[in-house]
Amino acid sequence: MMPEKIPNVDHEEIAKFEKLAARWWDPNSEFKPLHDINPLRLDYIDRRVNLRGKRVLDVGCGGGLLSEAMARRGAEVTGIDMGRAPLNVAQLHRLESNLEIDYRQATPEQLAEEQPGGFDVVTCLEMLEHVPDPAAVIAACARLIRQDGRIFLSTINRNPKAYLFAVLGAEYLLKLLPRGTHEYGKFIRPSEMEAWARHAGLQLTELTGMSYNPLTREYRLGMDVSVNYLACFEQN
Ligand code: SAH
Repeated sequence: MMPEKIPNVDHEEIAKFEKLAARWWDPNSEFKPLHDINPLRLDYIDRRVNLRGKRVLDVGCGGGLLSEAMARRGAEVTGIDMGRAPLNVAQLHRLESNLEIDYRQATPEQLAEEQPGGFDVVTCLEMLEHVPDPAAVIAACARLIRQDGRIFLSTINRNPKAYLFAVLGAEYLLKLLPRGTHEYGKFIRPSEMEAWARHAGLQLTELTGMSYNPLTREYRLGMDVSVNYLACFEQN
């Protein structure tokens, strides 16, 4: 059973991921977009922090796509998620992959109480648009990194084009994602993310777009932050 009193967890959102979890590692499932962007975001992170030997926390790790990829690059990875089923999938897959990753059911706020400054790198990708208070998650990420650590956040921008691509396109037209996966009102503008991060004592060092070409069905990283984007932060 899901503990009910934990703050800043939307149990309906968690339930969506619990329901789909068994298909997490199927590259042709609802998780195809995450499989497709995984090598891009892995390289992006690795080029900036050199993952080998780094203590990395993957917040909202789900079935472990990014956690495993970072562990393969030599990082010492902890993955946290509030979904029991995604974590079970992650734990089983980790055994198959023969990797060492510490998976735990926890929120970033809880872990920040236990291990402040405990990580060189914190990643929180495609998760902020599923929590009630994303600013609180960002503040927890800020507490979790050591003084010269780095934080990588990714989410979906909020504007008409993002609605068209991320909701209508992905869920209705191309049916890449189940209907109701994303709620437009929870999308986050880069300016909002930056302001929350600034309040948490972080500064934005880089903002990169992740765009999907529906014709070639390929993702690429670039300047276009109008739909999906990745941001890198460090302590002030
Ligand atoms: N970061 C992964 C998975 C993204 S899906 C990737 O990009 O590959 C979003 C995940 O966030 C889900 O697994 C969901 O269970 C988790 N999640 C949502 N709210 C959370 C919270 N408050 N604390 C921890 N995990 C949460």
